[in-house]
Amino acid sequence: MIKKLLIANRGEIACRIIKTARKLGIATVAVYSDADKNALHVKMADESVHIGAAPAKDSYLDIDTILDVAVSLSVDAIHPGYGFLSENAKFARACAEQDIAFVGPPASSIDAMGSKSAAKRIMEKAGVPLVPGYHDDDQDEATLKKSADDMGYPVLLKAAAGGGGKGMRQVWKPEEFSEALAAAKRESMASFSDDKMLVEKYLTRPRHVEIQVFCDTNGDGVYLFERDCSVQRRHQKVIEEAPAPGMTEDLRSAMGEAAIKAAQAIDYVGAGTVEFLLDEDGSFYFMEMNTRLQVEHPVTEMITGEDLVQWQLDIADGNPLPKRQEDLSIHGHAFEARIYAEDPDNNFLPSTGGLRLLVPPQEDRYVRVDTGVVQGDEVSVYYDPMIAKLVVWGENRDLALNRLLRSLRQYHIDGVTTNIEFLYNVAASKPFSNAELTTTFIEKHEDMLF
Ligand code: ADP
Repeated sequence: MIKKLLIANRGEIACRIIKTARKLGIATVAVYSDADKNALHVKMADESVHIGAAPAKDSYLDIDTILDVAVSLSVDAIHPGYGFLSENAKFARACAEQDIAFVGPPASSIDAMGSKSAAKRIMEKAGVPLVPGYHDDDQDEATLKKSADDMGYPVLLKAAAGGGGKGMRQVWKPEEFSEALAAAKRESMASFSDDKMLVEKYLTRPRHVEIQVFCDTNGDGVYLFERDCSVQRRHQKVIEEAPAPGMTEDLRSAMGEAAIKAAQAIDYVGAGTVEFLLDEDGSFYFMEMNTRLQVEHPVTEMITGEDLVQWQLDIADGNPLPKRQEDLSIHGHAFEARIYAEDPDNNFLPSTGGLRLLVPPQEDRYVRVDTGVVQGDEVSVYYDPMIAKLVVWGENRDLALNRLLRSLRQYHIDGVTTNIEFLYNVAASKPFSNAELTTTFIEKHEDMLF
């Protein structure tokens, strides 16, 4: 039984996890860096322990120190949140060695999804549809080029070790291949100390549709439907929604079942997200599996009425899945907008400083604000400058969208520059209300968004 939980994270997700732990009567331990001495997650937890200097590598990424704290305070489980150590197989393994439950999949599942090319080979074998492409070990330029020539342009070069949109290059013509490959390899080497590449057919107008799955230790799996995360800037999600507009029941169950197949192929346990590209003709292709709770999980909670952190803790405790597939259903529509301290007029550069004024919209059953900061706090250079996630629900997409627009209007922040106006412009645009969603939405409609 999990009686005491350490949260190896900070900010809104640490606060979010503490809320559910409290509801379940689980004691919580927060950890914090020099920069987070007075942070909300520290105040919310039952106990808190300082773990090091502000840079993440000296605190939130310090496996040994975090485990020392966990052992000395006799915690039963560690929730890694997202980012930081959440997809670190070494950390998952170290927890297991100390007999502490890691709230996430086994280290072997994390390893299996760690390389995009290895992941694609596993999925190919399991019969999960893949974007046509090359994902073998032979990294000879001639081999890579031939695979591109054979599948036809445009192609996308992707770092096998990639993440966060880094190490990716589109190639539109054979003449551009060599230079693009060199650039992608350079970027990949700099970010991941590895320059293995895969080549994919570049889909020009796809949607990013991902499936929330859960598996238990018996090997059973269910899907909690989909999220549409097509609205992205440089491959980073901006506004997410659930369900995906225009989704048919047939496609939903086909994607859901493919996602479960993907999870079961790597003996998955816990919460995971299988990301697919959905093409205009209704074909969908496996992109990757994220072996953690996603930032955008609240939209799924809003449409299913389930608490995904509670599900995670239940499963980490060794219990079977809380519900069967036929007991899950979708109610209404939800959006999430990521409120960032950044300057849309200056290439979205992070904006640091004190939150002199921070007035979120009133929360109720339709409006939820997940945040880790309060008025007077500092947005520092050390961490991701996300201030909050604004999540809204409505009986249908139009009603939810109205609520999103109203809530964005009611959000007041001073002291740092934010993207609130930009989010409003996206949500208020005609193509967005018409749900003309593709991953190139922002580039395509730039003129009406700034
Ligand atoms: P990362 O792990 O770096 O985030 P992903 O493989 O998840 O990289 O891809 C990130 C985004 O890039 C996707 O959400 C999608 O917008 C775009 N993308 C990825 N693969 C393709 C492809 N083959 N064709 C078109 N767009 C793609």
